[in-house]
Amino acid sequence: MDRTTILTWLHEEEPARLNELWRQADSVRRANVGDAVHLRGLVEISSHCIRQCGYCGLRLPNRDLARYRMSDQEILQCASLARDFGYGTVVLQAGEDPGIEAQWMADLIAQIKADGDDRSRPALAVTLSLGERSDEELQLWRRAGADRYLLRFETSNRELFDRIHPSLPNLRSDRIAMLRRLGQLGYEVGSGVMIGIPGQSYEDLANDIELFATVGLDMIGVGPYLPHPQTPMGQENPSTEFRNLESGQVPNSELMTYKMIALTRLACPKANIPSTTALATLNRQSGREQGLMRGANIVMPNLTPPAYRALYEIYPAKACLYETAQQCHGCMLGRIESIGRTIGAGRGDSPNKAARG
Ligand code: SAH
Repeated sequence: MDRTTILTWLHEEEPARLNELWRQADSVRRANVGDAVHLRGLVEISSHCIRQCGYCGLRLPNRDLARYRMSDQEILQCASLARDFGYGTVVLQAGEDPGIEAQWMADLIAQIKADGDDRSRPALAVTLSLGERSDEELQLWRRAGADRYLLRFETSNRELFDRIHPSLPNLRSDRIAMLRRLGQLGYEVGSGVMIGIPGQSYEDLANDIELFATVGLDMIGVGPYLPHPQTPMGQENPSTEFRNLESGQVPNSELMTYKMIALTRLACPKANIPSTTALATLNRQSGREQGLMRGANIVMPNLTPPAYRALYEIYPAKACLYETAQQCHGCMLGRIESIGRTIGAGRGDSPNKAARG
């Protein structure tokens, strides 16, 4: 798929023509990753964060948010719930929290992996999503048994990235470099972007898709940018500030999200692509299903204990906020089956990684 084709689709508004894009994405999805939808149990283990990202409610200066960090016992209980529900993977996500100490994390990973490693009861795949951490930490966690790491590069536009994601003092953020290191350490590597960031152009999205393919990602998550009122970006008025972007401001809409899911599937046929909670937040009724029908093959049911869930407020009015793990589980199964897809068995490892060897 060349760049002109990508840009033409991104600008397409005609429903009948878009049906052709959805059809292509769905058929490439079926041919490459099949009908199984893999479930990854998400545990939001800490809301502490040292960053000042302009988009995220967990940013350090947000004093209106009570912070929590789950104990190892609480996290192990969630992992055990993931097993009971038959998930192949547990995803441990957090703000960028130095209080998540490296050795503590390594011990926790080892404990999760130690729970059942014979053939009849294989260990869970462990995915980490803890922000930017040092090479030593990534290596330690990999040795402890971590299988995958998720780190969105958020946008391929470096200038825009710097604006929305300020670097820490004396440490320039380079998420692309970190993704490459993760690959070298043997992790399955996941990344992705937000759609409709103020100041993001259609060219930027086309570059994002090209970068997905060149970095060689195992998982690619794309979701709409959702303004949070307690952030600088949530308070600015995009229509005034970015009106004169040459090719126009990308909307943070449901339709643009489907286009990005579909085009990502066409550009990266074997990648694992989730139908995200941010998309479900824009359309609670059928966002998940439509994502799955337009290229996605993964969902991430939330296992975070209800007492903490509302505090992990990266954006407001998140879907699934007031549900228990059990309710999320049942809801996801129902949605998957309602569109004639099957529940993935096993860990749902990346077909891309298998090809890389
Ligand atoms: N601290 C980790 C995890 C962040 S939360 C990290 O930085 O990687 C995971 C993802 O949620 C982010 O990468 C971002 O793409 C998304 N996110 C954060 N704030 C958001 C918002 N306001 N709207 C939509 N997505 C958001």
